[in-house]
Amino acid sequence: MTEKTHDVAALNQAYFQSEHLLFNRTTPDHDAVPIVFAFPNTYTVGITSLGYQGVWANLATRSQVDVSRWFTDAHEELPRNMEILGFSFSWELDYVNILAALKKFEIPIDSGDRDQQHPLVFGGGPVLTANPEPFAAWFDLILMGDGEELIGNFLNAYQEVRSASRQDKLRHLAKLDGIYVPQMYTVTYESADGAITAIEPIDSDIPAIVHKQTYKSNLLSASTVVTDKAAWESIFMVEVVRSCPEMCRFCMASYLTLPFRTASIESSLIPAIARGMEVTKRLGLLGASITQHPEFDTLLDHLAQPQFDDVRLSLASVRTNTLTEKLARILSTRDSRSVTIAIESGSERLREIINKKLHNDEIKQAAINAQAGGLKALKLYGMAGVPMENDDDIEQTIEMLISLRKIAPKLKIAFGCSTFVPKSHTPWQWQGVSKTAEKKMQLFRKKLLPKGIDFRPESYKDSIIQALISRGDRRLTKLLILAGSYHEGEAPSDGSYKRAFKELSGQLPPLSWYVHDDWDISQVLPWQHLRSALPVETLVKHRETSFTAQS
Ligand code: SF4
Repeated sequence: MTEKTHDVAALNQAYFQSEHLLFNRTTPDHDAVPIVFAFPNTYTVGITSLGYQGVWANLATRSQVDVSRWFTDAHEELPRNMEILGFSFSWELDYVNILAALKKFEIPIDSGDRDQQHPLVFGGGPVLTANPEPFAAWFDLILMGDGEELIGNFLNAYQEVRSASRQDKLRHLAKLDGIYVPQMYTVTYESADGAITAIEPIDSDIPAIVHKQTYKSNLLSASTVVTDKAAWESIFMVEVVRSCPEMCRFCMASYLTLPFRTASIESSLIPAIARGMEVTKRLGLLGASITQHPEFDTLLDHLAQPQFDDVRLSLASVRTNTLTEKLARILSTRDSRSVTIAIESGSERLREIINKKLHNDEIKQAAINAQAGGLKALKLYGMAGVPMENDDDIEQTIEMLISLRKIAPKLKIAFGCSTFVPKSHTPWQWQGVSKTAEKKMQLFRKKLLPKGIDFRPESYKDSIIQALISRGDRRLTKLLILAGSYHEGEAPSDGSYKRAFKELSGQLPPLSWYVHDDWDISQVLPWQHLRSALPVETLVKHRETSFTAQS
């Protein structure tokens, strides 16, 4: 055994033997389809993803498949005759690990170069549901939307064509709702470095539009495995809500996942929490906007009972005007020291443009409530470079944050700030990244640190790469591979992307076109053939509403 295989074996043992499974794995049928389900990051990161856990358990409870998990540093026993390889793709920059995995499994990177002996490679998860185009060539098929029903439909359809040729399999699967087979669509451009002119299916048998699938149920996800090796050690997670009804104009967590769905307290959340608390004392409530749940108070009352006294409770971001003293008190008595609220800006004008229905008084009251409820810290989350933002908006945010120090002097105040990045399927998908954002971040730092406010900016350079991938098309594939090749095994730096753009000059549009330019609404978008909950006409209307809100 080489040192490397020995390391993997030791890690496998440490990881997989520490797991508490909260479901029963089914014994696969003798002719079950061998599947490897991969997370393109380490075990610690991957096993913390509720989406990955859910799809893996979905696969592991079907006798028609025999699933093995794979992470970059550990894996279960792998089949010799893998038929399907799936990736759960949650973070854009993990793409380098997908390329490395394909190489390791000796699968050609381009799906068009694969033949009958290669497994079908599928992908799913937030990155691909948002905009799969920069990565489209690497996947034979992409599952668009919620995994709950898609997985079953995909596997049943696969069984129907299991012995067919690769092309016939893909053609059959391409006709299924929510399954996108990129090689069945052609993209044409004005010129090599110009805009897209059309995206069309290769023939009339293939649907012109792929509709993202939405799971409609009041039974949402909960952890299927608890382990002390997860990034959030020994946490049991329950999904309280899915999507968010607020529709802030930049927010993909709302627009891409609509409609807003809530888990039933009685039949979903309470029984799930009881199951989880048999194996751990750490509970995470997840969802884009959990305090929007219409019965959130009932859930709080449940968690305030004495049997939860020794439970450590963590909440995803709380809507500012629902941060009551009661919520703060439950959090502080359940071992949480701080809470996060997303305010986006301290300017009433800018929040109206964003469609953030929140007033300055409510932000101040949230700080008062957090302090009165015994919390020690309040983290506020905002953005710089928001469309139509001006210097006065930035000054108002600074003043707001400083005023909170006076209103709630016992609280440690932190301000996390990111750069506005356009996201597909939102009303601001056409808006570019403002070059002024970096300077505004510097101003926040200069003004906030001397006032005792902890300033935590997200890297502007990382936001540029996020925007590039967010609005990328198929021409970006070559560039991503090139940028990843300069320092193999590492995430490319912003310098690597710039160098790759230089090398490929003339073969695709420049970085500034993808990242900084405002796109015309008549432009064919890279994801034009992939439909989410709202039609593009509605997004245009919401965009216009935001523009008129500034007057
Ligand atoms: S409230 Fe938060 S989750 Fe909801 S739309 Fe606004 S930013 Fe998105």
